[in-house]
Amino acid sequence: MESKKFILQEKDIPTAWYNIVADMKTKPLPPLNPKTKEPLKAEDLYPLFAKGLVEQELNQTDAWIEIPEEVRDMYKLWRPTPLVRAYGLEKALDTPAHIYFKNESVSPVGSHKLNSSIPQAYYCKKEGVTNVTTETGAGQWGCAMALAAKHFGLELAVYMVKVSYNQKPYRRSIMQTFGAEVIASPSMSTRAGRDIITAHPNYQGSLGTAISEAVELAMQTPNCKYVLGSVLNHVMLHQTVIGLEAEKQMEMAGEYPDVLIACFGGGSNFSGIAFPFLRHKINEGRQIRVVAAEPASCPKLTRGQFQYDFGDESGYTPLLPMFTLGHNFAPANIHAGGLRYHGAGSIVSQLKKDGLMEAVDIQQLETFKAAVLFAQAEGIVPAPESSHAIAAAIREAEQAKLEGKPRTILFNLSGHGLIDMAAYDQYLAGDLTNYEVTDAEVARNLAELEKIIK
Ligand SMILES: *Cc1c(COP(=O)(O)O)cnc(C)c1O
Repeated sequence: MESKKFILQEKDIPTAWYNIVADMKTKPLPPLNPKTKEPLKAEDLYPLFAKGLVEQELNQTDAWIEIPEEVRDMYKLWRPTPLVRAYGLEKALDTPAHIYFKNESVSPVGSHKLNSSIPQAYYCKKEGVTNVTTETGAGQWGCAMALAAKHFGLELAVYMVKVSYNQKPYRRSIMQTFGAEVIASPSMSTRAGRDIITAHPNYQGSLGTAISEAVELAMQTPNCKYVLGSVLNHVMLHQTVIGLEAEKQMEMAGEYPDVLIACFGGGSNFSGIAFPFLRHKINEGRQIRVVAAEPASCPKLTRGQFQYDFGDESGYTPLLPMFTLGHNFAPANIHAGGLRYHGAGSIVSQLKKDGLMEAVDIQQLETFKAAVLFAQAEGIVPAPESSHAIAAAIREAEQAKLEGKPRTILFNLSGHGLIDMAAYDQYLAGDLTNYEVTDAEVARNLAELEKIIK
């Protein structure tokens, strides 16, 4: 058997992040002030975010942004991550396709999220911030932020979506072990939380609500900033270490992907692996299909609309140009908690609008079937989120088999599922279902949105 793993050295950890906006022919539309509808200036964002991060957020000119030495040092805890040729999965599928995956599950918190929590904590600390607030869906981002906050000496409060708080108690314990305060959202500790609980007493929460609560607390706490694990441009930027490493590793393997796949919540792991490859497509016209895999129960890229919307449920954030289902869309309680978000980041939304990438939506049962096959073939239990990418990769491999032609597939394994075994238990017991979103539901939600935004 040829080499299965492609391993880089510590010196190969990227020294700069890749800012795709500098290379995009059509730049993303600017974020807007919801009251004046004027484009936001850096000063408008300073109350909420660290300055270093705001500069990255609005940077449209520098394709490369240096990674601070303190951040690279902490990346060395687990980076570079392996690229793996999935021979086992290829064999199980009896496909002529070559399947590779970038294994981001090897991080200390089990997902890609640490790639951005570290620089976010770093820039906050550097500017004298003492407290940070954030939200977390499945708990992945909260764990990553808790570790980074502890490392840089920041106090962290995390609003965790209630459904995950109850379904995934061990992620809460991990955050608490790293020293963070964890609050189930919606909570009675903020106006946003109280309003929703009053209107819907049994509401199990969403990322949108948790963001509203975290933003509200940040605005009320002195010397406190808010940090976010996805959606925003600076988060996408930090995640590009994934694709930059994968680019070198695919060279070591002597191949170039025909199709590149990642699961999609707000877009950070997708952007992380995709942007460095998309630069070949934008700058050199290289052929590569780039596919985002989203849950059928939260299909913003495949069935949402491109327009300005709030990033949170209560309308505290700036208006962002995005493919969205409407900020008050309440997704079903699927186990891929990290994918239950109503919109897509504005860079990705523009790339999708310009036809530089595509999206597929996948039902919950197909993702678990794919996850079990992958676990048995490759020995890694994937996160329910990552299983969307695996399912999409399997569809591609099956298509290659139908056509009787080889195809090189690269997907991002954004995290492992070892803390999601309750979800696997339910799947194996036959207790999981698919969730249909009707066109009428999507249309109703978007019509509601148009009334609010105008
Ligand atoms: C958070 C998370 C996601 C979804 O977030 P993106 O910003 O879309 O990447 C996907 N996979 C895992 C393992 C996660 O923790």
